[in-house]
Amino acid sequence: MQRIALLTSGGDSPGMNACIRAVARKAIYHGMEVIGINRGFNGFIEGDMGPMNLSSVADIIHRGGTILHTARSEQFLTPEGRARAYENVKRFGVQGLVVIGGDGSFRGASVFSREFGLPVIGVPGTIDNDIPGTEQTIGFDTAINTVLEAIDKIRDTATSHERTFIIEVMGRRNGSIALASGLAGGAESILIPEQPFDYEDICQRLLRGFRRGKAHSIIVVAEGASGGMEVGQRIKERTGFDTKVTILGHLQRGGSPSAADRLLASRLGAKSVELLMAGETRKMAGVKAGQVVGVDIDEALNESRPVDLSLYDLAGVLSI
Ligand code: ATP
Repeated sequence: MQRIALLTSGGDSPGMNACIRAVARKAIYHGMEVIGINRGFNGFIEGDMGPMNLSSVADIIHRGGTILHTARSEQFLTPEGRARAYENVKRFGVQGLVVIGGDGSFRGASVFSREFGLPVIGVPGTIDNDIPGTEQTIGFDTAINTVLEAIDKIRDTATSHERTFIIEVMGRRNGSIALASGLAGGAESILIPEQPFDYEDICQRLLRGFRRGKAHSIIVVAEGASGGMEVGQRIKERTGFDTKVTILGHLQRGGSPSAADRLLASRLGAKSVELLMAGETRKMAGVKAGQVVGVDIDEALNESRPVDLSLYDLAGVLSI
């Protein structure tokens, strides 16, 4: 394989740049040429792409976001859009493609690879940690550390004012961020989409704490578990407590990647190039039992990736 291309797609996540660097440098190390595609599948369709060299990826390992920019592409969902992208595969002489993104991006990559026979490898980059077939995704560790920092700061002000603080974090269908940051941040309650909850229970827990002299309470809510504003309102109605809601929003996607995410991004990025060199296609570079492995994309996408409910149970015990 002489020339590979890479793109970032879907939501951005901290560590994508470290991964771009790893893919480019590993490929160049092995004597290949690298084409960077801007703005995800949109740039692929429009031919917004060009050669990368060692210095294109210098000084980015510590930066959040993605220097290649990312997008969600309506056009790539259509056979016509993908055919236009294939014209650019021919025009630029691309022999293999690395797609850094989430499960949607992998579906697109897999369809494209089957239609046109181009070898494609996925690298899981999403803060949600919701991709089947890998224990970790690039960006999750940084995101939960960002949330944790916010929880710690809110805890300081909560202690001073004796209030109930609701912190809404990302996760429309998946409670991974809420669960990990809530447990690590010592939240009184954690609400996630995967687990039904009862306002009566939550309020009783708050009232018990209040009677015991607890100065404040922190509740972490995934956005898919009814949302922070709603939770704040319902608790206020039932307990009369002053509830303050903080919606962390997009700041969870930003920031310099943690050491763990930079390591993961470097390992998975390098693995994606190895997989292409080994003649593999429709594989994802992922982590299983702590080891970096190649996983069949189509098989992985047919599996589900449940949150670890033992963490949920543990958080319930520790916040008694
Ligand atoms: P995140 O987890 O951050 O949302 P994602 O990769 O899952 O990232 P999506 O918006 O679901 O983000 O997918 C990214 C892009 O992949 C879509 O905008 C679309 O262009 C392409 N894509 C998704 N599913 C398909 C599909 N079935 N066929 C072709 N392309 C697809």
